[in-house]
Amino acid sequence: MMSVDRKKLLALLKWYRQEVGKELTGAVIVNREGLVIEAVAGFSEDKKLEKSIDEEIVGGISSLVEPVLNRITKEFSSGSFGTGTFDTEDYRLIFCEAGPDAIFVTILDAIAMIDPVFPYAYLAAEKIARIFDGRSVSPVIPSLTKEKSTKDIERKIDKIQQIKIEAGEYAYKLILGGDGSVGKTSMVHRFVENEFETDYKATIGTSIMKKECDFEGLKSKVRWIIWDLAGQAQFKRVRNSYVANAEAGILVFDVTRRETFENIKKWYVDTIQIVKNITLILVGNKIDLEDKREVKSIEGEELAKKFGLAYVETSAKTGENIEDAFRMLALQIVKKFVLTEEV
Ligand code: GDP
Ligand code: MG
Repeated sequence: MMSVDRKKLLALLKWYRQEVGKELTGAVIVNREGLVIEAVAGFSEDKKLEKSIDEEIVGGISSLVEPVLNRITKEFSSGSFGTGTFDTEDYRLIFCEAGPDAIFVTILDAIAMIDPVFPYAYLAAEKIARIFDGRSVSPVIPSLTKEKSTKDIERKIDKIQQIKIEAGEYAYKLILGGDGSVGKTSMVHRFVENEFETDYKATIGTSIMKKECDFEGLKSKVRWIIWDLAGQAQFKRVRNSYVANAEAGILVFDVTRRETFENIKKWYVDTIQIVKNITLILVGNKIDLEDKREVKSIEGEELAKKFGLAYVETSAKTGENIEDAFRMLALQIVKKFVLTEEV
């Protein structure tokens, strides 16, 4: 590998540890093969003193990361991984893609909250990517705030959005709502990687993926940061922070199961209670199973109309209308945020 400024990487990791604080068990930069390039251990509990970073600790940290890295190699190698969180029995891990060469891994206590740390991890990963690129970058991670109330988390995320907007880039958080097994994860995979997994594995934790939408004749791009949450039980536990700060959302039901359609109202109300001005669309998925259909198109249209939303029918299996659903949402976002700003 070309020479990377390792001193700078280490300085950045130390700043990162400073900002994340005592919940940090460790932070590791690994390359695509999973080899550790640089690592720091968290502060020790009582003294808040830096643990000596000897080979042993670095080895211990990398062995934590290894099994999970193996598990998600496929996602990494596709190049569209973005970010993900993974819970093990003892730790919570945040993985952030840091450019084409590296992955930044944050290891937190099992009881730590992911959301307050996430903006820092994201910022650090972008800086790491730039260091790998040989570009000049300050290793300082700005202190966004200390407290962990929802308001402060919102402010942190705002700040990151601002940094991105200054860089001429718009990034929007997109969430998915709807009952289990309606096809939310499949839709995201179809959109991001253009693939449908029949040998399907449930997402571990939250999978966070990036994907851009370009529009001809518009200089703005919409860059989606898509948050896909695993399992319904978990959704209840973290619903507020999952939905908080989202600019856009897709409410999904399965056209072959009427009860998933009937539950859309609940999903709609729950979502707008958390984020009043979120931009939503309604999607009826699995239209490839035409003979099993229990909800007619006109019913979907009428419900969407009642809530003032656009309605799209899709199949994550065949790919029909998947791209359109995300682009329609992106266009609404462009109208709402970008065009009004540029006028
Ligand atoms: P989620 O729980 O809403 O994220 O749903 P998943 O994406 O995990 O999908 C649940 C099941 O439905 C999986 O077995 C998928 O393969 C299947 N599935 C998802 N979308 C479609 C679709 O458009 N057509 C068909 N036939 N099956 C689908
Ligand atoms: Mg899912």
